[in-house]
Parts: sequence; structure tokens; C-alpha cells
Amino acid sequence: MAVENVVIIGSGPAGWSAAIYAARAELRPLVFEGAITEENRINGTLPLGQLNLTTEVENYAGFPAGDLTAYLNAAIEPAARKLMPPHSGHGVSGPELMELMRQQAKNFGARVITDDIVKVDFQRHPFVLTASAGEVTQSQTVIVATGARANYLGLPSEEAYKNRGVSACAVCDGALPRFRNKPLLVIGGGDSAVEESTYLSKFASRVYLVHRRDQLRASKIMAQRAETNPKIEIVWNHVLDEVFGTDADGVTGVVLRGTDGGQTRKLAASGVFLAIGHTPNTAFLEGQLKLTDQNYIKLTTPFRTHTSVEGVFAAGDVADDYYRQAVTSAGAGCMAALDAERWLAAREH
Ligand code: NAP
Repeated sequence: MAVENVVIIGSGPAGWSAAIYAARAELRPLVFEGAITEENRINGTLPLGQLNLTTEVENYAGFPAGDLTAYLNAAIEPAARKLMPPHSGHGVSGPELMELMRQQAKNFGARVITDDIVKVDFQRHPFVLTASAGEVTQSQTVIVATGARANYLGLPSEEAYKNRGVSACAVCDGALPRFRNKPLLVIGGGDSAVEESTYLSKFASRVYLVHRRDQLRASKIMAQRAETNPKIEIVWNHVLDEVFGTDADGVTGVVLRGTDGGQTRKLAASGVFLAIGHTPNTAFLEGQLKLTDQNYIKLTTPFRTHTSVEGVFAAGDVADDYYRQAVTSAGAGCMAALDAERWLAAREH
């Protein structure tokens, strides 16, 4: 079996940046971008990562507001471009940015397999990786860039109404007819909660942004957007206690509980969108790399992407519980490719 130089697992900004750098270093990287399955859709782990589930990206350096239509048409393969929605005329969108990164990596010769890696063996070298379709790949180095997925609260009623009004991705599901001109709920107080509320306010009759404290965690500019949007009402100091509904209509309302006195309150709502943070996608590693208490991959050397196994590197949200930005992930992907390249070069001599 041929042994790869570099296998990259994941297809967010970290994965594609690593692929671009590794391809330009003539390492012929192989990218497992993830599988397109219903399970991945529900978990928010489809190819192209979290950014593919967002709207406008206003803070990725190099993409100021402007009409990118002509550029997108010129840069992306027509087959992929045809599947993308028309450009909004604002800055770049998350899905556009991800398609551009994927195309850029392919232009330099990165090979892409649309499947999940479900099992790894880092005890032997070359490392052995198994995809969900059963395909086995061997590689000298591996870059793990599998990112993180949205959290749910874990309430039984939330589970019961998943896909029938409960979602962790407003951008994926918000435009569905069931949510149009209806009151909707977003749970959380970070940038994601504000972004999702703002997005949903275009479709909903009203958006209740329910936060467990009396102050948003979101950045100031984002918080201001929620506070000044006439369709968004912030419900402070409350948590979601229960989702209720009917078989025919899905979600029809919620019970909220106050955090200061425990008093409950019912609200009519047709949708509940969770925006309460993320969990890193590290379960498939089955303990073969050292993880932090929160299950992020532990980087072993400051300012490097080395993990507890030599020759395995990690980049992006899977190893970052602190910055978690598209641009920092892209930077870390570049670092991982350079680290892998240097590690391979050192072994040759
Ligand atoms: P986050 O910043 O970790 O915020 C999670 C929010 O959910 C917090 O407000 C937290 O409340 C709340 N929460 C957590 N667990 C909860 C629970 N069990 N019940 C109720 N509430 C709960 O996560 P995020 O908003 O997804 O953002 C993640 C990262 O992505 C951040 O670095 C953010 O800046 C970035 N991001 C940026 C943009 C942008 O710039 N356009 C957009 C989206 C995300 P507490 O505040 O009380 O802890």
C-alpha cells in the first residue's frame, strides 16, 4: 500500500490552509473532508466546517465588504459555483470563503476524499487511518483539523424535537417554512447567539434571545446589533427548561426558568435554536492523543502544532478553546503544514 506524506483530516479553514501549504511544498496532501450524511448534518459536522454554517464573515482579513460575484465566478469551478447561492453583495460569506479555500487547495494538487475518518492507529508508524467506507490509508504524518460541533443542552424534550423545530444552526434551517413569521427562540449569549438571532430576525415575527446572565458574552459590536434590532427581545437571566409541541406541528412553545428565583414562564415559539458553544470533534481519536479536560487536543510545545504523538499535528478549533476564529484557524493550519514538512525533512536526514 502506498504511504502518504501528509493526511489532513477536516475541511475548515485549518484543514484547507494546511492543504495549500503542504501541496505547495510538493507533499501531495490527501484531505479527508468529511462525509455528506444526515448524521453529520444534524451534528453540524458536514464538510467545510462551522464557517459553512454561518452568514457574512466580516472579520477575515482581505475580504472587505464588496461585490465578489465576478471573482467567485472566475475562481471556483462552475460545477461547485452552480450549487452556491448568489453572492449577497456584502462581504464574503462563510460558504463562499470555504469554497474558495477548497478550490485553492485543489488548484495546487491537494487530493480530496469526501468521507470521515472513523478510526486512527497512531501506535504504529506509518500511521493507519480508516474511513467510514472502510478504506484504509497509511501516512507518515497526520494533521488533525476536525474542528468543533455545536452543543445541545441535553434535555429529553430538546432531543424529541430535533429536526422538528429544535436546531443548532439557524443558517441551515432558519429559512424553512415552519419558521417563517413565527416567534423563535435562540439560547445563548455569545457571538453565535447574536449572529443567529440577527439572521432569524429576517424570517421570524419575533426572536427571543434567552441568556442565562444579565450581560452578553458577545463582542461589543455584535451585542449592539442584538440590542438595537427591533425584532429581537433579549430575555435575561433565564434558561430553557422544556420544549413542547405536537406531532403535527413540531415545536409550539417552551418553558423558561428564571435563574434568580426559579420561577417558570411559558412562551409560544415555533423554533428553538441552540447557540451555547461547541465541543471539539475528537471522539474518533479514541484516546490516542492527549486531550485537555474539555477534550480539545493538547498541543505539547508552545507556538507549535505538535501533539503527544510525534508526526501528528493539530490545528484549528479542535485544539483551540480560546481564539476559535476563522483567521486563527487558517494560521494554525499553515503552521501544522510547516511543522509536518520539517518533521518529514528531519527524518530523511
Ligand atoms: P461562546 O462564546 O462560548 O458562548 C456560548 C454562550 O452560551 C455563552 O453566552 C454561555 O453563557 C452560553 N451557554 C453555555 N452553556 C450554556 C448552558 N448550558 N445553558 C445556557 N447557556 C449556555 O460560543 P459561541 O457564541 O459559539 O462563540 C464561539 C467562538 O466563535 C467565539 O470565540 C466567538 O467570538 C466566535 N464567533 C465569532 C463570530 C463573529 O465574529 N462573527 C460569530 C460566531 C462565533 P455564559 O456567557 O454565561 O458563559
